[in-house]
Parts: sequence; structure tokens; C-alpha cells
Amino acid sequence: MSDILKNKVIVVTGASSGIGRAIAIRAAEHGAKAVIVADITEAPREGGRPTVEEIEAIGSAARFVKTDVSKRTDNDALIEASAEFGGVDVMVANAGITLRTDGADVPEDDYHRLLSINLDGPLFGAQAAARQMKANGKGGSIVLMASMGGISGAGITVAYSTSKGGVVLMAKSLADALGPDGIRVNAVAPGTIDTELLRTSPGIAEASEGFRKRTPLRRLGQPSEIGDAVAYLGSDLSSYVSGIALLVDGGLLAVL
Ligand code: NAD
Repeated sequence: MSDILKNKVIVVTGASSGIGRAIAIRAAEHGAKAVIVADITEAPREGGRPTVEEIEAIGSAARFVKTDVSKRTDNDALIEASAEFGGVDVMVANAGITLRTDGADVPEDDYHRLLSINLDGPLFGAQAAARQMKANGKGGSIVLMASMGGISGAGITVAYSTSKGGVVLMAKSLADALGPDGIRVNAVAPGTIDTELLRTSPGIAEASEGFRKRTPLRRLGQPSEIGDAVAYLGSDLSSYVSGIALLVDGGLLAVL
């Protein structure tokens, strides 16, 4: 498809299913040297072959590393696994969850569990990657998965929006902290993306139909379209881009 990620080693969390799986596969299609697939489980939610097998069939090297992103030590071990290929060039902290009940009365345990995955996870992942990038002295790109819901409050997902708003500012703040070491940090903010999770979640599926009708492009996004946005931010094509939240939402936020 392209060679914009040629010679790059890319680590993607939450890469067994959905958007993370598409990011990992797309990275191989954009010529990545190696893709490290991190997730708490290797089986794709949508069925089919594990992500690693899909990537190897495209021609890139791939490894699965079982990782719970809410644990700092798991993130450290994940980044160490990239040393086999010369170290991480692009770290994509994509893993994230939603809650069934996420209004103003979101239960405390659920709230803390969500924050540990959606907010601690990206920070621990970015810290581990930045440490190795600095030690290797070659800079790099860190991409954090935010959401349109981290910019707009529409949709009434209190804990989720809080976490994703935090991710947007985490990217800006880390961009300032790590820029002097040649490390760029950006967020991607998807709109409504057609994943298995979206199709099978009661409530979310109906709400997404409302968003689809309001979206200027009149369709949901495809996971591969997020993969292309991440490939751009991971590649040298975006060499002067840092501290942004790249909206990939079919124009929805422009009209909400
Ligand atoms: P998904 O549920 O299909 O995939 C998430 C993956 O993360 C799964 O493979 C899951 O096993 C993994 N995961 C969950 N907890 C983990 C943990 N503690 N450690 C490691 N891996 C873990 O979801 P998705 O729709 O692909 O969402 C991916 C990211 O995109 C999330 O951060 C989500 O908030 C964000 N996002 C999704 C949409 C959308 O419309 N689908 C929109 C905006 C943002």
C-alpha cells in the first residue's frame, strides 16, 4: 500500500480487536519492519486469525505480548520486547474500554477501573516508550487514542469523556516534555467507528445510528481509516506535528 513506515518498529496496545487490530494490520500494509501486538487476550473479538498471523501474511515481523495496560510493569515489559527488533519507533497507546452505566451516577469501582485502563494505560505506555527512545537516542512518535468524546460532552458518557479529555491534554503536555528529545506526541480522536463492540453493545448501537445520520459524510468510520491516521502520525510525513488531537470523525464535531 505504501512504505511510509518502512524500517519502523511499532507497538500497538489493544491490538487483538477493533481499531487496534486495524492499526496494527495497517502498519504492516504501510511497510512497518515489525509490529508488536499487545492485548490482555490474543483472540480477536470479531473472529478470524489472530492479528499476528494477519501481519506476518502481509510480510512484516510480528509478536504478541500479553499486556494489561493498567499495570506499569506490563508496559515496561512490552517495550522491552521491542528490543528484539532494535527498539520502538512508534508507540500507539490504543487500548480503552467503555462502561454500560456511565451517566452522572457512574459507580465508583467502574469509574476507577475505566480510568486505570483509559488514562493510566496511555501514561505508563508513553513513559516506558519515551525512556527507551531517549536511551536509544533516535527520537520517536507516541500516539495516544482519545475520542471525539474527549473533546465534546455529547453522548453522556461521564467517566469515558473524562478519561479521553485527559488523554488529549496528556498528549499536549507530553509533547512539551518530550519534544527536546525528538519525541513527538499526538492524540487521535475518532468519531463513531464501525467495530464489533459498537455493533453488539445495546444502547451504543442505537446512539451511533443517530450520530451516523448527523455526520456530514453520512456513514460510520472504518477502523482502517483510524489506522491510516495513526500511520501518518507515526511516519516521518508528520515530522513537524506534535501536541495535536487529530479528529477522524467524518466531520461530525464540526456540526455538533
Ligand atoms: P474494542 O473493544 O473492539 O478493542 C479494545 C481492545 O483493547 C480489545 O482487544 C481488548 O481486549 C483490549 N483491552 C481491553 N482492556 C485492556 C487492558 N487492560 N490491557 C490491554 N488491552 C486491553 O474497542 P475499539 O472500539 O477498537 O476501541 C479502541 C480504542 O479506540 C479505545 O481507546 C476506544 O476508547 C477508542 N475509540 C473507539 C471508538 C469507536 O467508535 N469504536 C470511538 C472513539 C474512540
